[in-house]
Amino acid sequence: MPLPDWMCRRRITVPASIGLLSVLALVLANAAESPLNYTLAGRNWLIPTEPPAPKPKTESCPTIRNPDPLMGPRTRLPGNWKGLDPVSANLPIVVMAGHADSQNMDGSGTPGYAVDVRNEKPMDSSMRDELFWNFKVQQEVVRLGLERGLNITAYTPSALTIHNHNDPRTNWSQAKRRSERGEYVLEIHFDAYSPYGFGSGLIPAINRRLNRVDESLAQAFGRFPRNFRGGLGGPRRGIGILEIGMLQGELEKRLRDPVASDATVTCLAERVVNALERGIKTA
Ligand SMILES: [Zn+2]
Repeated sequence: MPLPDWMCRRRITVPASIGLLSVLALVLANAAESPLNYTLAGRNWLIPTEPPAPKPKTESCPTIRNPDPLMGPRTRLPGNWKGLDPVSANLPIVVMAGHADSQNMDGSGTPGYAVDVRNEKPMDSSMRDELFWNFKVQQEVVRLGLERGLNITAYTPSALTIHNHNDPRTNWSQAKRRSERGEYVLEIHFDAYSPYGFGSGLIPAINRRLNRVDESLAQAFGRFPRNFRGGLGGPRRGIGILEIGMLQGELEKRLRDPVASDATVTCLAERVVNALERGIKTA
């Protein structure tokens, strides 16, 4: 039995219009991906699909300046050594947190200006504020370093207080062994506050020749004398001590600000990783 006229029309017209619409949609979709788009856009057929301007990576973490608005002044006692030895592209780097094994004993690090002078609460009652931030930056340096493909790890002693320096778990013991086998040992620190602190910079290792990673860190952060305070225990065992800055002022304020804290730690870590990467690449 033949279909009534209106049904026939409907059967034909509906699929045809869907088909036409699909073709048009397909053309428009392809146009957005193809050079044709620019012609069409030129005729106001389509909204231009130029990619959005890339977000500047340094937006929240500007390049280090001297003095730096975040980290403060560089060491007021500068050194004049140069790190010239090239390093392998696969240089093993181990990052330590300064004072990680020396809490509640001599050499436990600075409480920082906020706690010591302004009587604010420590970030964590089991450790000095310096160690609290050393840990944060250490972890972030390793995380970012791995992201960039560096051969980087963290070492953290299993206890916060280890009285015997020669205990194999201490930063010093680990550094001595690792430095002897060619690992680059970097220990994160925040210096004391003014007038006791010195400022940002690298106190380089004493037990080996200085290399281009030492040089790169010194160029970025500042350069302490190699025999600072007559040669510290860490550098004698192969540790490069990186003083990020004095724990005071803008640096401490931003670290302690719950809103700005994470971004500040990331920015500091990014600066360290950038310097490590530059030292390896120029080698
Ligand atoms: Zn320290």
